[in-house]
Amino acid sequence: MTNIGVLGAGQLGRMLALAGYPLGHRFRFFDPASDSPASLLADHLAFDYADTSALEQFAQGLDVVTYEFENVPVEAVRHLEKFVPVYPPPIALEKAQDRFVEKSFFRELGIPTPKYSTDGFAKRINGYETDEGNGLEADARIVSTDGFAKRISGYETDEGNGLEADARIVSTDGFAKRISGYETDEGNGLEADARIVSTDGFAKRISGYETDEGNGLEADARINSTDGFAKRISGYETDEIEFPVVLKTRRMGYDGKGQMVVSSQAGLENGLGNGETDGLIIEEFVPFDRELSIICVRNRSGETKFYPLIENQHRDGILRLSLVTGNVSADLQGQAEEYATRVMSALNYIGVLTIEFFEKGGRLLANEMAPRVHNSGHWTIEGAVTSQFENQVRAVTDASLGSTSPLGACAMVNLVGTLPDVEFILKIEGAHLHLYDKAPRPKRKLGHITLVEKDVEMLYEKLNEIRKVYDQF
Ligand code: AMP
Repeated sequence: MTNIGVLGAGQLGRMLALAGYPLGHRFRFFDPASDSPASLLADHLAFDYADTSALEQFAQGLDVVTYEFENVPVEAVRHLEKFVPVYPPPIALEKAQDRFVEKSFFRELGIPTPKYSTDGFAKRINGYETDEGNGLEADARIVSTDGFAKRISGYETDEGNGLEADARIVSTDGFAKRISGYETDEGNGLEADARIVSTDGFAKRISGYETDEGNGLEADARINSTDGFAKRISGYETDEIEFPVVLKTRRMGYDGKGQMVVSSQAGLENGLGNGETDGLIIEEFVPFDRELSIICVRNRSGETKFYPLIENQHRDGILRLSLVTGNVSADLQGQAEEYATRVMSALNYIGVLTIEFFEKGGRLLANEMAPRVHNSGHWTIEGAVTSQFENQVRAVTDASLGSTSPLGACAMVNLVGTLPDVEFILKIEGAHLHLYDKAPRPKRKLGHITLVEKDVEMLYEKLNEIRKVYDQF
């Protein structure tokens, strides 16, 4: 028996507990909202994530903590880690909470993404104009991950984790004359021998000129300046993007919230309609063939398993239908597993991980990842030998993982905003209804229905039955 603490007490937490009880585990939830779907199943501490004494009270007697919500403040998780192991590792949260950091991380691992750029970073990198002409502006930032500088001029980052969002290159005259207070030689930007000098002898040098060992930016962390402009920062290229683009908040966006398609420069300048352009990422609009997600799991001993790629259909940015019908080539499955393996290895991952992709011309472009069980994996409760929820529990308790094989052609219909006639659904043979005990509200996920059938024709017949009383998919 393991005492498992869960940060977040929504429907994912509820399904996690429902999967963990048969294995003899106990659960305790932490969520600021007092009337959450998991509340009826287990102890629930309803405090703010910033309340450290409440977090300590939560941790008492727990063997492990996990989460079902990726926007838990990282500081809260770091605090908990002092008292109890937390899986997946908080670094996964850091990567997933900021879309720019996330996409940069994918690229660093050689995982293709849609083209993207961002304000609040360098305004002109690879073709993005700055106001002042020719360089990194005062608030230009370097965001980095592993293998880049740990510190620049006194800006602490996390261990092994590179420059954080607020590690800055500061420029005084529209060009990088100074880097965090250190004058460059020519007063004229990042030249071949311009250096980032760090107080603890960290930064090596920019532009590929090695300095003494351990004494600077690592070999591939470069700012190459040809025309007095930073073309490349630590290997993170930003892209030139043509309209239409998708403008998204870097943080806290989900289910289509905090994003809009923009077709003109004027639209870009207006931000998300409020004139606020900071903290946004700009992505190319991808006319994808399909959206697919991979769900994988790794336990504390490193055993790893993958579910088959799931085909996902959205409306208004919200997942409506997930399908597992064998309609995915071995090549695509292989690509997805390879990319997921890179992410899990880089993060020393433990738990369930989901990566969402756009499929275009037989290629996968990573859109985002979730370091947790995922809505597109709800079909696994009845449709796979072992559900994503049970495998999450197994992974964080270091049990062997269960088989991820599907049991047939599967579909999951999300119930969003309103509920169908429950009696009608229950009369459809093989329809599994899950309700989350949430009050109906527009765009709110209230439940889902799973179908598992022997063949795809029967699956579509049953989906058509559901459409008679519920057409939101
Ligand atoms: P996200 O919150 O990034 O998962 O976006 C929600 C949904 O919006 C996605 O599942 C897509 O259907 C759509 N979407 C997001 N980004 C893009 C993009 N760059 N191009 C086209 N569609 C997108």
